[in-house]
Amino acid sequence: MAPVLFRHPSSLRHDTGSHPERAARITAVETALAARDWCGYDVRESPQATTEQLQAVHPAVHVERIRALAAAGGGSIDADTIVSAGSWEAALHAAGGAVAVVDALLDGGAGRAASLHRPPGHHCETAQPMGFCLFNNVAVAARHALDAHGLRRVLVYDWDVHHGNGTAEIFAGTDEVLFCSVHEFPLYPGTGRPNEVGHGAGKGFTVNLPVPEGSGDDVWIGMTEQIVLPIARSYAPELILVSAGYDAHVEDPLAGCTVTDAGFERVAHAVHRVGDELGVPVGLVLEGGYAPDALARSVAATLAAWAGPSRPVREGVVSGAPIVERARASLAGRWPGVALGA
Ligand SMILES: [Zn+2]
Repeated sequence: MAPVLFRHPSSLRHDTGSHPERAARITAVETALAARDWCGYDVRESPQATTEQLQAVHPAVHVERIRALAAAGGGSIDADTIVSAGSWEAALHAAGGAVAVVDALLDGGAGRAASLHRPPGHHCETAQPMGFCLFNNVAVAARHALDAHGLRRVLVYDWDVHHGNGTAEIFAGTDEVLFCSVHEFPLYPGTGRPNEVGHGAGKGFTVNLPVPEGSGDDVWIGMTEQIVLPIARSYAPELILVSAGYDAHVEDPLAGCTVTDAGFERVAHAVHRVGDELGVPVGLVLEGGYAPDALARSVAATLAAWAGPSRPVREGVVSGAPIVERARASLAGRWPGVALGA
């Protein structure tokens, strides 16, 4: 069946003024996708997340804080994180769209699905909205996959240029979610060092792949194909969710990496392929990306890649990027497939 795309007009009513995380991002994405006939996706309006779904991740006081702030007309959580009157509805649909992705994949028979909303989510911790994020959409979705669908292994691959500190914190103590993140470091929020590996039953199930400013296609592709894919094969997830930020793009104003449209397309193809290899569905939850045109092109490239047949990852072709080789050396003992390079 056709892949499924969830959207909702409430994303445009989360009013952040002149903030880089603004409605124009979604307008650009939807305009580009509409011009491409939505890349063949079945476009649906996302539902709102339920209170129960949100509170499976966030405490009631956190959920109520967002609701009350929006109901009062809005305000600031911190210097980066703004709530407007429309933010409550937008945040409910952003989390609900991510949950709907999981349901479409696990109940609906879709092989691929995407949720394109704002605000983004991956910085939001259990009890702390931050970094433009009010609820952790991908975490609510992953938790839903575990609780409502009975899954025991979910891979969350976060390719946003910033570390997904919220997702990492939420799942640090469990092996039921493997969190892999490639991100520029140092950069906001300052977490995501390789030695942050989770704790307790979750020890080893957080894989941080920090990369230096200036990293481009070879690094993002190398980390994906040569590190994340072998780890995914070893972990054998029942579901793959991508925290898909596009702020590693060379045109992005908030970070210093140099990934191109073609780089994101190849990274998307690699994840598409491993989903096919493992026979598991793959979902996308939009995170950052602050150059609207580059964001729109890169999202379209990702969704188009997933709408077609997967193609073999170029086994044995190594990027040669030193940072990828260092990651390989440090992770090969824990995840033997990484040593083979593909
Ligand atoms: Zn980001």
